[in-house]
Amino acid sequence: MIGNDLLGDVSLYIHIPFCSKKCPYCHFFVLPDKHALKEQFLASLFQEWKLRAPLLQGKRVVSIYFGGGTPSRLTALQISTILSYIRKDAHIASDCEITLEVNPEDASKEFFISLKEMGINRISFGIQSLDDAQLITLDRQHSSHQGIDALDLAYSAGISNLSIDLMYDLPHQTLFSWERTLERVSALPITHLSLYNLTLEPHTVFFKKQAEIKPYLPNPDLSFSLLDTAVARLSSLGLERYEISAFAKAGCHSRHNTGYWTARSFLGLGPSAFSYWEKKRFRNMAHLNRYSESLTQGQFPVDFEEKLGFYEQQKELFAVQLRLVQGVDLIRFEQRHGPLGLDLMKSIDCLVAKEWIDRRGSWVKLTSQGQLFYDSAASELI
Ligand code: SF4
Repeated sequence: MIGNDLLGDVSLYIHIPFCSKKCPYCHFFVLPDKHALKEQFLASLFQEWKLRAPLLQGKRVVSIYFGGGTPSRLTALQISTILSYIRKDAHIASDCEITLEVNPEDASKEFFISLKEMGINRISFGIQSLDDAQLITLDRQHSSHQGIDALDLAYSAGISNLSIDLMYDLPHQTLFSWERTLERVSALPITHLSLYNLTLEPHTVFFKKQAEIKPYLPNPDLSFSLLDTAVARLSSLGLERYEISAFAKAGCHSRHNTGYWTARSFLGLGPSAFSYWEKKRFRNMAHLNRYSESLTQGQFPVDFEEKLGFYEQQKELFAVQLRLVQGVDLIRFEQRHGPLGLDLMKSIDCLVAKEWIDRRGSWVKLTSQGQLFYDSAASELI
């Protein structure tokens, strides 16, 4: 069963905001890859760590995730410095999953050897597509060959827990081009895959150009076929869907992401990073100077904080956990999060009646129809 944490197990997320170029669909907080900005960021990150580390007293860190941005824009030495001060102040589980996101254009054998030596045991590659025309549309800085080579380099450096991100619902995408991408995926030495559909998010270049782009996006029928084809093909490769957008070989579920779906506490460090800690959510400032200034004054660099009421929180936790294909064991859920509220019970009944949720004994889980309409199901629950 996924999500068997011990009491006191927590995660860390480190947001490394640098990218060589902002992708036109990206809505994350990113900064240009400049030496001076990196120096400022690294100094502030250390200050933030010193402020936050006392929170980890008595806790056991079971996953650390370097995300971004593009963490591979840092040097191996810079990454290992961050890890060494974390190790100095926190209790890191001996089997801690430590993931670093890498973009293919940053890959080299030496880099991966250094990552392995410092204890990074999982790499998540921003591959996005293995079709060169689509990589150009997405304005990615690497070719499909670079993507494939990057995985081989990591694998030959001795890191065998490898994940890739793949996108569908892309402009001009056809079932044929998608099948070709999936065919190429079948030859990769991966243990995990995260599958995302392209969405046109506000404040992105694609959003501004949506009138130009929309006519070339797959229609709902094609979109459904793309997803269906991926689920079947990945399953035939032993990559089973275990969450709405995540697929893994047996025993290779992302420990870090599973924490998000099962309400494990996590601290996010770096500008714009989210945290969920002692049933409170908060977010760091998405602005490097403001983030740094706040830390220089010895203050937490937070500009959003929220503590939901008991039943609101319970509904959210349930909706998020429902993303797991195994579903939610209501007995265990109530042990952790209290007796189900009346509203939540009614919403579950309603979703069962719609055949979006299946109930067996104490377990409830999304049906295949429910997986397709997860967003609508979640909004009924919340
Ligand atoms: S590399 Fe990733 S984080 Fe950076 S701009 Fe592109 S999508 Fe955003």
